[in-house]
Amino acid sequence: MSAKIVPREILCKSALSKTGIPGYEYCINPYVGCAHACLYCYASFMCRFTGHQKQWGEFLDVKINFPAALAKRLSGRTRPEGKVLLSTVTDAYQPAEALYKITRSSLEVLAEYQLLEVHILTKSALVQRDLPVLRRLRACEVGFTITTMDRNIARVLEPGASPPHLRLAAARQLMQAGIPVWVFIAPLLPGLSDTEEGLTSLLQTLHKTGIREILIDYLNPYPAVVHRLKSAYRRYFPGALPELEEYLHHPVIYQDKIEGRLNQVSELVGCRPCFV
Ligand code: SF4
Repeated sequence: MSAKIVPREILCKSALSKTGIPGYEYCINPYVGCAHACLYCYASFMCRFTGHQKQWGEFLDVKINFPAALAKRLSGRTRPEGKVLLSTVTDAYQPAEALYKITRSSLEVLAEYQLLEVHILTKSALVQRDLPVLRRLRACEVGFTITTMDRNIARVLEPGASPPHLRLAAARQLMQAGIPVWVFIAPLLPGLSDTEEGLTSLLQTLHKTGIREILIDYLNPYPAVVHRLKSAYRRYFPGALPELEEYLHHPVIYQDKIEGRLNQVSELVGCRPCFV
């Protein structure tokens, strides 16, 4: 856990929320805030609803009664059906989860009731801890967000998340245990991860690891995200700043260029990533 973060324990009223994300009926967010502190995180808009004065990545609320609230919902008269996604505005496996085990207890509840198919999206290798519970779920899939294999880039842009090689090691372990795994390359980082070298390295590594389902998304240029990224690019990656500016000012032309590059690299590597 980041030394700066002192988690606050809170009580929640509900644990299962409806979601408009295509393909999912519900989402589960056991924490408020995210210590992974990704600079491109657009969930940072949550800051204004939490009452926290601190920046995104510097606060964390732990919903300590979350598993109990979930059990109450699943045992109610109207039983939920479909797919639930962990998580949408936080990472259910951020460092505090190693201590609090709120996500694991919630998965135990989901395994007990066998009502929902569970999909997890994370940037943490900690998910492998819960393999025995994942195997008892009605159905389960795990997605790992991996934006780059370059540890220096990841350290700057996703400072609190597991290093990319550890996410891949966790992906491998889950796959060996029979859990379906996919990778989400999101966002593509202009001038950093979307270069020919960056794409080749990432796609080759994923392919060698045995990952066949790869989804990709572009950067969402929310003003706060752009502000944080430009500062980081200026400081750490000044050579890539023109690419970021080009993407921000001419997104359609930029995306055409990247899609052409991606097609070439994918063909060479022998994989078929898709844009969401
Ligand atoms: S892991 Fe996800 S929710 Fe957490 S800071 Fe990064 S992008 Fe945001």
